[in-house]
Amino acid sequence: MLSEPVTQLKGVGEKAAEDLASLNIHTIADLLDYFPYRYDVYEIRPLSELIHEDKVTIEGRVVHDPTLTFYGRKKSRLNFTIEVEGVAVKAVMFNRAFAKKQIQADQMITLIGKWDAHRLQITVSSYKLGAAEDQEKVNPVYSLKGDLTNIKLKKMIKAALTEYGSQIIELLPDRYLEAYKIPNRKDAVFTMHLPKERMSLKHARRRFTYEEFLIFQLKMQLLRKIKRESTQGNSQHYDSNKIEEFINEFPFSLTNAQKKSLDQILTDLKSPYRMNRLLQGDVGSGKTAVAAIGLYASITAGKQGALMVPTEILAEQHYQSLTELFGDRARVVLLTGSVKGKKRKQIVAAVQAHEADIVVGTHALIQDEVIFSDLGFAIVDEQHRFGVEQRRTLRDKGLNPDVLFMTATPIPRTLAITAFGDMDVSVIDEMPLGRKEIETLWAKENTFERILDFIEKRVSEGEQAYVISPLIEESDKLDIQNAVDLFQQLQDYFPPEVKVGLMHGRLPSVEKEEVMKQFAANELQVLVSTTVVEVGVNVPNATVMVIYDAERFGLSQLHQLRGRVGRGEKQSYCILIAEPKGEVGKERMRIMTETTNGFELSEQDLKLRGPGDFFGKKQSGVPEFKVADMIHDYRALETARSDAQEIIENSLLENDEQFYRLRQYLEQEFSFADKLD
Ligand code: ADP
Ligand code: MG
Repeated sequence: MLSEPVTQLKGVGEKAAEDLASLNIHTIADLLDYFPYRYDVYEIRPLSELIHEDKVTIEGRVVHDPTLTFYGRKKSRLNFTIEVEGVAVKAVMFNRAFAKKQIQADQMITLIGKWDAHRLQITVSSYKLGAAEDQEKVNPVYSLKGDLTNIKLKKMIKAALTEYGSQIIELLPDRYLEAYKIPNRKDAVFTMHLPKERMSLKHARRRFTYEEFLIFQLKMQLLRKIKRESTQGNSQHYDSNKIEEFINEFPFSLTNAQKKSLDQILTDLKSPYRMNRLLQGDVGSGKTAVAAIGLYASITAGKQGALMVPTEILAEQHYQSLTELFGDRARVVLLTGSVKGKKRKQIVAAVQAHEADIVVGTHALIQDEVIFSDLGFAIVDEQHRFGVEQRRTLRDKGLNPDVLFMTATPIPRTLAITAFGDMDVSVIDEMPLGRKEIETLWAKENTFERILDFIEKRVSEGEQAYVISPLIEESDKLDIQNAVDLFQQLQDYFPPEVKVGLMHGRLPSVEKEEVMKQFAANELQVLVSTTVVEVGVNVPNATVMVIYDAERFGLSQLHQLRGRVGRGEKQSYCILIAEPKGEVGKERMRIMTETTNGFELSEQDLKLRGPGDFFGKKQSGVPEFKVADMIHDYRALETARSDAQEIIENSLLENDEQFYRLRQYLEQEFSFADKLD
């Protein structure tokens, strides 16, 4: 049986079983599902066709015995020369001293490695004695631990395939195999381990990519369904006519993306399930407008609304704009840490007595003293700035209020599908008409004086500027020192009427708020800051953003910073000071100067950095796939997602015999109950 332990195999003793266990391989089935992480393809091309820096395979005759040099503590370097097509090619191999004994003059040898066309040199990553013809064309390479070697592991897997291979069962329904023309599970497992040629391997990989995505999507969507259905009804019967009147009074008409997101939010409000939705959209795309309409809908249903934001300044800004927007349609109150004493008591009492309809505030909102009379809809802005606990507290403030999270950090579609599988996602991916695009320039450091003159000129026109100081990742202290130095430098450079402010993470929060207030009131014209510049702060009069050492930031971060300007009528500018060394860095700067679309940038960022880096390693909710690659295989991901949706919506797991195996697998593999909070 496939569930038997690996020790059932001949030649797998206790030590081998231990090594396998450290790879999470316990049963025969685990072993068979342990796929190579790459394949070396031995395909020989003429030297003249090899591309510089590509991974290549060459074969040739060893000209003389290798020479071995040691350096550092455990490091070594093996050098030899082989003759290929009558040309001498240098080979370098690192940290494989043992190979010296195996490689001898006059032997034929096949080398795989990185090609340096200028030096006619290959940096060998793997080699095989003998000419390429004598070898398998596609050679699986597994990741290993302990005493395992690739050869040993291959032997074990071969034995397992011979003895147990016929027992491999299909998980997927026939209809998918047919529709996507993918091989059955058994054939595909054989091909993954014993590939004969590239084409069948491609199809086997395609199969497992789809299988992994489908199972993952099913898991996520089942989870979401269970979460939804475990919460009790909160159907908000809002007044559509009133909402329409309200929207008609706006000085603009909603963009299509706003309309669509609003529709989704209203549907959630009306449905008996609790909303658990993320609203994504670039800075200035009009999320707040949509949120306001949602809040109003809830009020027409007789409920209260809450809007929680990360800072006091933001709270005040939102309070003002909502008060204006609603007029006498709703009673809006502000609750932050600095609302104290009698005033605070009054507000808290008003909330409890339902004499306030909407509460805007910071986390002061979720203190115990604040008791809502009937909270129907809670919105959390810049959700990543709050901890899970804080969000949960807000959610629990009412009888299952609907909850909407908003973020201006555009998350690539592929990541949103996976990372937020248990949340619904709405996206505002278009900007209101008539926005002036921020002009983005890439400058060298030696143009700094010209940049300062440019700032001075903008300031003389009554505008304002941010200057982001160089980032020093390893040291908070140096980071601040940099900001302080730059601050002094600018103060010295500018005439006295240009007031320069300083902002960094170590300032007490009262001071931070004070500096931001002064900047917002144009009492300061230039703000030098580390990257802590408050998210979402709206100073429409600021038109210049200068970012030092821009090459050190990811595209998404640069985009966030750039989003601090371009919020008013006037033309805004973003100046990136960067001297990137590598190609990736240059590519980043180029992309920044070419696009202002946050979603496009985030997709590019993902490609350049990979999913792990995107969210930061620790909090990355990004799953590890064995075969699938989220970026490369995003089409398969979308197919799997819509298949999973169909399966769940039509209860196929329960009702369709073809899905029996899949259901069994899911039940075995995942325990859903404990994932519920
Ligand atoms: P976000 O919260 O996404 O940063 P806001 O909702 O604050 O964006 O909108 C930014 C600005 O654009 C506000 O001044 C708002 O009044 C305006 N705005 C919002 N939607 C539209 C629209 N459809 N057409 C024109 N202007 C809009
Ligand atoms: Mg906003």
